[in-house]
Amino acid sequence: MSDLRDLYQEVIFDHNRNPRNFGKLEGANHQAEGFNPLCGDRLTLYLKVDEAGIIQEVSFDGQGCAISVASASLMTEALRGKPVAEAEALFQAFHDLLTDGHGHELDLGKLKVLEGVKAYPSRIKCATLAWHTLESALHDEEQPASTE
Ligand code: ZN
Repeated sequence: MSDLRDLYQEVIFDHNRNPRNFGKLEGANHQAEGFNPLCGDRLTLYLKVDEAGIIQEVSFDGQGCAISVASASLMTEALRGKPVAEAEALFQAFHDLLTDGHGHELDLGKLKVLEGVKAYPSRIKCATLAWHTLESALHDEEQPASTE
């Protein structure tokens, strides 16, 4: 098990050091801001969703702790090319993974590396911030997403 944990940490460090899809997305048709006051994590999420409801492009920028940045980076990788409905289902599955640890039938792939966060309840909001922001962006909410 500890090898697996090391591997997971490695992936998180890597995504924090070199966040994927980082930076403003030109031509985005959805965007939202998210804030986690508990930790001070802030991010803006940009989405380009086509007429068929497929997420063609997704990026983020902002500042936060390693968990929040790695989670946002992993999320953008997971969302690209996915229908919006599937993105919503992934959020539910990811949320379940970090809270009750079951009830998710979807294959979360690399997102599973964040499962260890559930041992640290105060960090769960760091890991889910990007996803709450995704919800705001998809629903075009004016208010910044907050984990509170
Ligand atoms: Zn944080």
